[in-house]
Amino acid sequence: MTGQNPVGREEEGDSEFPLYDVVIVGAGAAGVGVSVALGHAGIENVLILERDEVGGSFASWPEETRFITPSFPTNSVGMLDLNSVVIGTSAAWTLEVEHPTGRQYAAFLKAIAKHFELPIVEGVDVKRIARLGDEFGLDTSHGIVRARHVIWAAGDFHYPRMNGFPGSDLCRHTATIPTYAELEGDDFVVIGGYESGIDVAAYLADAGKTVRVFDRESPWTSESSDPSVALSTYTIERTRRPGFVERVALHPDAPIASVAEVESGFEVTTEDGRSFRTPVPPLLAGGFDGSHTLVSELFESREDGFPLLSENDESTKVPGIFLCGAAVRHDNHIFCFIYKYRQRFAVVAKAIATSLGLPAEGLEQYRTWGMYLDDLSCCGQECVC
Ligand SMILES: Cc1cc2nc3c(=O)[nH]c(=O)nc-3n(C[C@H](O)[C@H](O)[C@H](O)COP(=O)(O)OP(=O)(O)OC[C@H]3O[C@@H](n4cnc5c(N)ncnc54)[C@H](O)[C@@H]3O)c2cc1C
Repeated sequence: MTGQNPVGREEEGDSEFPLYDVVIVGAGAAGVGVSVALGHAGIENVLILERDEVGGSFASWPEETRFITPSFPTNSVGMLDLNSVVIGTSAAWTLEVEHPTGRQYAAFLKAIAKHFELPIVEGVDVKRIARLGDEFGLDTSHGIVRARHVIWAAGDFHYPRMNGFPGSDLCRHTATIPTYAELEGDDFVVIGGYESGIDVAAYLADAGKTVRVFDRESPWTSESSDPSVALSTYTIERTRRPGFVERVALHPDAPIASVAEVESGFEVTTEDGRSFRTPVPPLLAGGFDGSHTLVSELFESREDGFPLLSENDESTKVPGIFLCGAAVRHDNHIFCFIYKYRQRFAVVAKAIATSLGLPAEGLEQYRTWGMYLDDLSCCGQECVC
């Protein structure tokens, strides 16, 4: 269906827009994965709207950035590849790469979309969603789309956090860098020391550049075994390389108060009053506001700003709209990685199937794949050694 007008009948002057059982916004890892789960639940009247192209966020990562979560073809013993979003698929097997680049992973998602003939329409931007009676109206760049249920899976990559402190607009967010190779200069400041910040620092150190990394905390020394909080093993290994040790200075407990333009470049000031000069714009790796900010009026908000969700990842404020992807939070559980949030696809599919009066028996197989996390009491266990 790629390229079709989702409101095709509008062009013929017919005001009767088609009504879908489910419209999914976003064809990234979450949108692709949950749409296959809907199919396994027996839900067929589905449309996926994607403003860019399938896997567009991954394709926009800096060219050098690789997955920190490894892929391995473990499916033969019932353990789904960590980076797969669909049961029975393996990124490792398809791509023959252990740590794919974003572009490689986008190709994997496209292969899934093609294999399962997913009803994706690319190039359609969803601007607003409103609940109208017992259905939703989606205001899109191509007209109105109607749905009984909506799954918001628009991710966070296209919504970088740019306004953390005065002068942050002078910085360059790492999500806007097509390739690190284009970065000119020898002496860099990186603001944010979690995965993206250490990724660019490690690249620059390998290229012989000097880097200072500032973080409000100290992710590189966190003792948590949860990669949603601490650096991944892949990244820790990179920080131990001789070039990194020699050329990267890590500044923990150093929240940035401001960035200002000065004659010789830029001055970065920490909240405790220390100032640092850099000749090139500081690189901002401070995370993302997330696309859920676009639909915030449809969800209650948690204290940390993430949407408050029911046990089925449905809005507690407006029934019928669900959230899938890295913004899913339950209590202290952060589902920001694929291997985490994919386990909620079956939960969402089951809830929608139930609302449509379908038995969704095809979802039971998700349990044997470790893809059906409907009991959150098991989450949050730390490694004992
Ligand atoms: C640099 C980087 C490295 C990462 N490494 C890993 C890793 O190693 N392992 C891991 O598990 N996770 C990793 N992550 C996290 C991972 O990328 C996210 O979990 C994943 O992208 C989220 O998938 P998603 O489908 O929710 O969002 P996305 O992949 O961003 O998909 C959302 C889609 O929605 C579309 N969209 C957005 N807004 C609209 C709109 N208004 N209308 C229509 N379409 C819209 C976008 O174009 C996009 O295609 C990394 C993230 C980054 C930024």
